[in-house]
Amino acid sequence: MAAPDEDAYDVVVVGGGPAGEVVADRIVRSGLTAVVVEAEAVGGECSYRACVPSKALLRPGAARAEARSVDGARQAVTAALDPARVLARRDRFTGRGDDTGQADWLDGAGIALVRGHGRLAGERRVEVTAPDGTVRTLQARRAVVVCTGTEPALPPVEGLDRIGVWTNRQATTADAVPARLVVIGGGVVACEMATAWRSLGASATLLVRDRALLTGWEPCAGEEVTRGLSDLGVRIRFGVSAVRVARDETTRTVTVETDDGTALVCDEVLAAVGRRPRTADLGLETVGLPVGDWLPVDDTCRVTAGIDGDWLYAVGDVNRRAPLTHMAKYQARACAAAIVERAAGRPAVTGGRQRWSAEADRFAVPQAVFTRPEVASVGLTERAAREAGLAVRTVEYRIDDVAGAALHADDYRGLAKLVVDETRGVVVGCTLTGPMATELIHTATVAIVGEVPLERLWHAVPAFPTVSEVWLRLLEAYGL
Ligand SMILES: Cc1cc2nc3c(=O)[nH]c(=O)nc-3n(C[C@H](O)[C@H](O)[C@H](O)COP(=O)(O)OP(=O)(O)OC[C@H]3O[C@@H](n4cnc5c(N)ncnc54)[C@H](O)[C@@H]3O)c2cc1C
Repeated sequence: MAAPDEDAYDVVVVGGGPAGEVVADRIVRSGLTAVVVEAEAVGGECSYRACVPSKALLRPGAARAEARSVDGARQAVTAALDPARVLARRDRFTGRGDDTGQADWLDGAGIALVRGHGRLAGERRVEVTAPDGTVRTLQARRAVVVCTGTEPALPPVEGLDRIGVWTNRQATTADAVPARLVVIGGGVVACEMATAWRSLGASATLLVRDRALLTGWEPCAGEEVTRGLSDLGVRIRFGVSAVRVARDETTRTVTVETDDGTALVCDEVLAAVGRRPRTADLGLETVGLPVGDWLPVDDTCRVTAGIDGDWLYAVGDVNRRAPLTHMAKYQARACAAAIVERAAGRPAVTGGRQRWSAEADRFAVPQAVFTRPEVASVGLTERAAREAGLAVRTVEYRIDDVAGAALHADDYRGLAKLVVDETRGVVVGCTLTGPMATELIHTATVAIVGEVPLERLWHAVPAFPTVSEVWLRLLEAYGL
């Protein structure tokens, strides 16, 4: 029972990013009530400072390159990108952080919104501190769902906290193109943001501690992106870490000292070395959980460690299962279905193939990188499949050799790699590089999730002359 000064809802969702919005939507569609607590802007990092603005910054350069890759069209595209128009187009997608549209959407969907910072205050209770300092307590009849996402992790570089370092927030919202950008990191955000700002005219240098980009992917992905960035004029220094940075107060330039004894002068430094959970100020201690950690969950997104009962869930980046918007939304659908099942007194048992199991997190996470060339993957890499003890066979094919690819672009260059589980005769992993790789990957996702035997895939005939004919070539290379 809620105390008289408390508002009670079936489900209290803390964090209104993609995960929180979808959990709340699915909950109210099922007939239960839901409230979203949001500290900044409804829509989360994705809408204003991550996926949407980054792709809006990348698309004009990709469109220009695409037109220039076809003789006859190339001659019509001779000017450089217009940065002011590119930034203005990005702002049309993000509304410069104005969340009125998304807040209205919540309202229309019948979802309550409470603005402020939410903290757990014991079992099923969330205290919200509003921007004006007033505190309100929300009571959850069924569940609290934590969807607070992540924030950038900063590398241990002396002076980084004093130069006004760029994180994903500045890198996606900046209003001017820096003349010289140094990017610390070699992962997806580092590669995409170097591509975007280089395309807009910045000189860009990547400082990569590892010996390759996109570690954790098939090696061909990192190799192709390395080549693409180099062709674009991005300098990449492998095996190098920044150790000290300082901004000159007069010239506003930043000097970056590295561990190989060299120094670089630039205008902005972007730190893109990973994320940490937004759980430090979440009241986790009031329910006996460690402060500041990721929240481990089961396939229904129920928090597994140290919680009695089934009232606390964590969805999206904060549970670290698959930190991507589409997977956050997938988990949100699964979590909401599980809460509804349990509210009705039915068990939401994981391990099966029900809608309340976010099982694909473990074997079929698609990821798209919008560099030039694009790269995309789903499922296991060859290495991960071997480490999992599968009887693996791989097949590779150069997509350039497909007629549709050559028609698509004069200089088409791309690679497809399949990882096949020989015991079951099914695809368990796929990596694609090249133009349209990000669109082509969904075919592989369907094949993996559907566990479609290769013999059966043979009958899924790709249209001529499309780039998708690479699927026929891969099956032929496999021996069918
Ligand atoms: C530069 C960049 C580009 C990316 N591009 C892509 C992409 O192209 N495709 C893709 O799939 N993924 C991409 N991602 C990842 C994607 O942004 C995340 O996976 C996604 O935002 C996760 O959604 P979420 O709802 O879990 O968290 P978030 O989007 O981070 O939302 C969390 C929300 O919770 C709120 N919040 C936090 N703490 C509290 C609190 N205590 N009380 C109240 N509210 C709180 C925050 O204000 C925020 O609105 C990108 C990430 C970055 C950094």
